[in-house]
Amino acid sequence: MSLEELYRSVILDHYRNPRRRGSIEGDHVHAEGLNPSCGDEFALDIAVEDGTVVDAAIQGHGCSISQASGSMMAEAIIGKSLLEVDELIHKFKLMMAIEEGENPIDESKPGAVLGDLEALQGVRKFPVRIKCADLPWATLQDALREVTG
Ligand code: ZN
Repeated sequence: MSLEELYRSVILDHYRNPRRRGSIEGDHVHAEGLNPSCGDEFALDIAVEDGTVVDAAIQGHGCSISQASGSMMAEAIIGKSLLEVDELIHKFKLMMAIEEGENPIDESKPGAVLGDLEALQGVRKFPVRIKCADLPWATLQDALREVTG
């Protein structure tokens, strides 16, 4: 299997079997996002205790890129401190060339930095779809702004 095929299968797996789908019953922050250019909708519940993300749940519908990105993101942020989540957002945006800087992904070591999220870096080649991949992350940033006030 080529790396590209592997990445495609990771994206489809998260799209078909999204992780952390649902909502949070207890104390949480909720944020919603929309990507009108593709019609993607995404919503996120996160629970933060003592500066750490202890739970995350996602809702929404849209294209495979947006929904897979949200599924991977929800898995990736649980158990991380708010500082670590900020770093993850930054790395993701560098990888997707949304922010300027060096791509943090070492192509020779797939999976070493961002795990499943690295499957999304192929989207860089399709500027229209970058917004799809970024939607959950922009929504996460809205949620974090609410957490930190
Ligand atoms: Zn989309």
